[in-house]
Amino acid sequence: MYMKNLYKTAETLSAIDIENLYDAGKRFIIIDLDNTIARWKTFIIKDDAREWLRNAKEKGFDICILSNNHNRQRTDDVAGMLGIKSFRANKKKPSKQAYIETLGYLGAEVSATVMIGDQLFSDIKGARKAGIDGILVNPIYKKEAPITKLFRIMERLAGRKIIWQDN
Ligand SMILES: [Mg+2]
Repeated sequence: MYMKNLYKTAETLSAIDIENLYDAGKRFIIIDLDNTIARWKTFIIKDDAREWLRNAKEKGFDICILSNNHNRQRTDDVAGMLGIKSFRANKKKPSKQAYIETLGYLGAEVSATVMIGDQLFSDIKGARKAGIDGILVNPIYKKEAPITKLFRIMERLAGRKIIWQDN
């Protein structure tokens, strides 16, 4: 239905083939924080996510967190822990402007960039508005913000099947 064929999906971060991304010309990864990298509101990060990010970094990817989280210090701290960037955009996802600002911060071209996130109507919708390829992953934990739960209903209406990786 909505936006079908305009983005890819992967079960987990670690299921995304880094070599494939690189061969497709991607050099920049904009990535969501909550339930994509870390458990919502926490610093809990799974080993496979940590390893995937480390491998992507070693491959030469420039990786930057773009989060709507209110606790921006936490976002910066997680990025620091992982040795990746974070960007404080003036607008929130799915605003196109948030992505344009992030591209500017990274000095990245649209075609060389991919957005990875667990929310269709935030992460992926905004990326698509900016012309950035998106990869939708399953949320790593079930606990999330009340507003996100509303978006999940919309995602289901749009045909998304969520397979929770963890509760
Ligand atoms: Mg998220």
